[in-house]
Amino acid sequence: MAELVFLYKGRYWVREARTLETLSAMARAAGHGTALVYDRDLFGVSDNVVSLPWLNRLLFGPAGAAQKAAAAGAAWVVLLENLNNKQWIADSLAALAATGHKGGTAVLACSGSAGASVNLYGEPELVFADFLKALPGRVPAEIRTDGLADLETLPLPDLGLFSRYEDFSLSYMAYAGKGCSGACSYCEEPFYRKAYGAGYARQRSPARVISELRAVKESFGTAEITFKDSVFTADRAWLKDFLALYRREIGLPFKCFGRADAFDPETAALLKASGCYCVEFGLQTFNGELRSRVLKRPESLEAVALAFAACDTAGLAYDADYIFGLPGETEADHLAAALKFSSMKRLNRIKCHNLVYYKGFGITDYALKEGWVDEAALSRGDFFSGDRAAPAMRAANSAFRKLFKLYGLLGNVGLRAAAASGLWRLFRFVPGFIVKPLELLSGLLKGDRRFLVYFKIYPRRVLGALIK
Ligand code: SF4
Repeated sequence: MAELVFLYKGRYWVREARTLETLSAMARAAGHGTALVYDRDLFGVSDNVVSLPWLNRLLFGPAGAAQKAAAAGAAWVVLLENLNNKQWIADSLAALAATGHKGGTAVLACSGSAGASVNLYGEPELVFADFLKALPGRVPAEIRTDGLADLETLPLPDLGLFSRYEDFSLSYMAYAGKGCSGACSYCEEPFYRKAYGAGYARQRSPARVISELRAVKESFGTAEITFKDSVFTADRAWLKDFLALYRREIGLPFKCFGRADAFDPETAALLKASGCYCVEFGLQTFNGELRSRVLKRPESLEAVALAFAACDTAGLAYDADYIFGLPGETEADHLAAALKFSSMKRLNRIKCHNLVYYKGFGITDYALKEGWVDEAALSRGDFFSGDRAAPAMRAANSAFRKLFKLYGLLGNVGLRAAAASGLWRLFRFVPGFIVKPLELLSGLLKGDRRFLVYFKIYPRRVLGALIK
């Protein structure tokens, strides 16, 4: 019987899932049994394929998950707080209490009181170690641990935790480290850096990351890797050392995230020569004033243009993240962006996101002050779902969002023609259920590996959920 059950709601391909895998590995190394109860967010707000929250509520929910967690008879049910799951945690704890669960509940929280029998404050991997040390005796109602975990000595993630739900042979989500030195107002990285300490942004040694990837490759025959670090290219010396090892010992195609001010022609050539098939950049908008004054992006638009040009020269495909719903965005911004995108050589995909106003973020304070948002709308939804734009921008945003999603089919010529002729306005009338398969088709036609992975994984996920 598992002594610790992790109760989780959300996507697998996010940092919280990796954190739980690491916590599970730590618990196992300390001699405890672990298990996962997954309150799945399939069709939920974090589902980046199909977001139908009403269907998610119909199929899943805290009550059912709590019953499973209680039925496991675990000594402890452990939950991990993130930016928008406070209510889900409260609902889950209430549902657990209603089942008559006799064991303890522990919440790894950033701040506030979650109402669990034990609240754990601090970087999850660090405070969880103190929690484990207290077992099986009496655990204080609150454990606070300052400082940062030594990433180098943490056990490799327990991939058994989510293995019922994820197919690691298709693709593996890797984190070389944590954090980012940037201070972008809309991003979670500065938030966590402030919560956990100045040294939060750090990487593991190349050898340690390679040992994880080697184990994954041997165990699952993994076909490709996605490095999920927010800025994989941040440390040039580290990257050089790592990629030399990676080419020799792993040699799988991979995708990663770059930042324009930590990127140059040498980096692009190095990535390309090491098997990188795509690098993703946080562009968000071509409106320079919005980027610097509101978003607090660290790099200039000139640096962005140079980074894209470096990829073009190296023959390296790149994705550009673009956010809709920014305070002060205009139709002219999107139109100018469409024209700029249509002149790029190796642009693979325009990844469309919607701004989320999370509590405690710089952009949220700004938007509250300027009257762009009210308190009741904070911390709702996800980057993939919901439209939090000013009402006057919603029609234009819908049109450009669909236009950008279909970039793979339209190509540069089609995108430029739609933007320049005004035809872009019609795209908002294309129903979402048509855009999604066309977007998938455009990704498949372009040979985008991420789409191929989703094409294989997603139907299995849906089928698994429906026959559960
Ligand atoms: S550069 Fe990217 S990861 Fe870093 S703070 Fe800005 S948005 Fe976040």
